[in-house]
Amino acid sequence: MKNKARTLKKVRKVEKPPYTIDKSKLKRFSRKNVIFSRVMWDSSWKGYHQMYNEKMINLINEGRSGYSRVDFALAYASWVVHDAFEGGFSWKRIKQYRTPAAMKELNWMKTRFKVEDPLEMSIHVKRAAKLFGASLVGICHLNRNWLYAEIEIPKKFKNAIVMAVEMDADGIATSPTAIAAAATGAGYSKMAFTLACMGEFIRNLGYEAIQCGNDTALSIPLAIDAGLGELGRNGMLITPEYGPRVRLCKIFTDLPLQPDNPIEFGVKEFCKKCKLCAKNCEAGAIPLDDEPSFKIACKSNNPGVLKWCVDAEKCYLYWRENGTDCSTCIKVCPYNVASAKKASLSPEDFWKESL
Ligand code: SF4
Ligand code: SF4
Repeated sequence: MKNKARTLKKVRKVEKPPYTIDKSKLKRFSRKNVIFSRVMWDSSWKGYHQMYNEKMINLINEGRSGYSRVDFALAYASWVVHDAFEGGFSWKRIKQYRTPAAMKELNWMKTRFKVEDPLEMSIHVKRAAKLFGASLVGICHLNRNWLYAEIEIPKKFKNAIVMAVEMDADGIATSPTAIAAAATGAGYSKMAFTLACMGEFIRNLGYEAIQCGNDTALSIPLAIDAGLGELGRNGMLITPEYGPRVRLCKIFTDLPLQPDNPIEFGVKEFCKKCKLCAKNCEAGAIPLDDEPSFKIACKSNNPGVLKWCVDAEKCYLYWRENGTDCSTCIKVCPYNVASAKKASLSPEDFWKESL
């Protein structure tokens, strides 16, 4: 299937992922240092035990546009599948209510479908991922540098299927309101559905699947390896189709698959001059330096990769002020704007748009 957006942006397939590593500095990143974990254990910084949503009631009472009871109701509803459906992030066969007799006879997990052609199987996997809600899907060999330091995965899991789920463009266009937070939460809940269906698809072929959201490994380098996009100044994956307006998830599997090539479409050069995310970030968390570097901003950054490091501490503390999360560095990115109907939307217009 020819992809129009990719053609327009002059996407080139390349042999190696378009990032630069300093092997002497790169270590597997500890999950403990993800900013949300540090809120719980790291007493050395200002955000320790400061929950970012504590101000919700005050904001509702203030009556600010985009922070109403209805807006927060939407935001919290959006997470329900992600938070309540355990099957979304399963490493094993998901408990099903009914097992059809025919399925028992076939004994899915004990007999394997013979994969004669990994490329053909990759096409099946990609088609299935789209059917189950992925907006983009790519395949790479699993580079274990991207696994969190605490995670061990058996060697037989050689492949990663990386999927991107588009977030609602109108919702993101209201950032930093609670409506934009709903677009984020809905992205996470959709991921849980897509992952569960894909995991079971693979298990029904007799192979294993480890379904992952933000747990287990860093999604962005895996997505770059799998040819979904490049790294932007805002610390996010920039895709040709939606810019950074996606959520990422992945499945590690022993199913034989053909990896995709990484891609390049000039993001790093564009980011050097654009700087819109940095100029619009209320927290001042995104560097304005012309060139990327190996400097890190805080211990929630992974050292050893040439990039612009987003200061996750400043970002989190702004979320706390805001009473909900923020997607402004997604909203203003020209790669998002090119794919959205409107670059910016008021909460009032968002609610009208749905009619
Ligand atoms: S999410 Fe918001 S606060 Fe955080 S870096 Fe992006 S624009 Fe800045
Ligand atoms: S807003 Fe501009 S500088 Fe920031 S990630 Fe997007 S293209 Fe790069």
